[in-house]
Amino acid sequence: MIDPLERWREYGEKPDFAGLPTFGGLPYTEDPAELEGVDVAVVGAPTDDLVSDRPGTRFGPRAIRAASGASGPHLEAKIDAFAELRMVDFGDAPVLPADPGRSHQAIEATVGQVLAAGSIPIVLGGDHSIAEPDIRACAAAHGTVGLVHFDTHTDTGTQVFGVEVSHGTPMYRLVEAGAVDPKRYVQIGLRGYWPGSAEFDWQAKRGITSFFAHDVRKLGIEQVIEQTVEIVGEGPVFLSIDIDVLDPGFAPGTGTPEPGGLSSTELLWAVRTVAAGLEVVGADVVEVIPTAVGSADVTALVAERTVREVMTGIALRRSAADG
Ligand code: MN
Ligand code: MN
Repeated sequence: MIDPLERWREYGEKPDFAGLPTFGGLPYTEDPAELEGVDVAVVGAPTDDLVSDRPGTRFGPRAIRAASGASGPHLEAKIDAFAELRMVDFGDAPVLPADPGRSHQAIEATVGQVLAAGSIPIVLGGDHSIAEPDIRACAAAHGTVGLVHFDTHTDTGTQVFGVEVSHGTPMYRLVEAGAVDPKRYVQIGLRGYWPGSAEFDWQAKRGITSFFAHDVRKLGIEQVIEQTVEIVGEGPVFLSIDIDVLDPGFAPGTGTPEPGGLSSTELLWAVRTVAAGLEVVGADVVEVIPTAVGSADVTALVAERTVREVMTGIALRRSAADG
């Protein structure tokens, strides 16, 4: 008979509402020396200075952590990522409100520390502009990366309201800077009324692949992901998930909601399958604006589960490689 206190201390078996809200109850450190041998490090990037509409994603990382509970085996994948992988919560990048340039530098430096240790960073946003420092750091460590990008929007604008660094422009800037290989770049879930033909012409010229929400409806998510894995192929890849890819019925707490999106069921399966099938060297889950306090927030909860699917996919890939 194990003492309940020992279960808590030794095995992390505690109620979800108790203790410090690190992601999944993971050990917390901000010391790069403690990243040695770590497979995955969760990093918060609490920013929203560069949004074009509703602010509030600065509260995203805390809400996702607060929505996060104990680990356990994934009932469909039949693996426990928390047992399979060595993971830590690496805290938040030291961002500065109202100074997005220095916040991006801080995010790039913190993600860079994770990469320098040979670990995979999973970044909790923050608005989608953080994809720029996230992916720049990954490309600096691994060379030009492929990109699997779940989003309502392409985020390939050259500017938004005349502003070049924005949550609507990171993917344009990353491709032009050579950090992302456009031939290995797939977008999934596009819909609505932005951007326009100029952006789609540029995408076509660069060879970017787009699966719209109507493609997911017609082909089915399994077919879309099968083709995605084929197109991206071998080599390092970044996985960027804008929570607004989901229908607002599933994730109402986001900056630019657009009806007609994916279901949570589709996204969770898709993210896990991508992470299991490709060499994911980094990931982010962005644009979460918590609308309620604590674990009651439905958007933070689905974002938390999305991060878990990335971890589960990585665990599946590692365990398959280990034979
Ligand atoms: Mn979006
Ligand atoms: Mn986005």
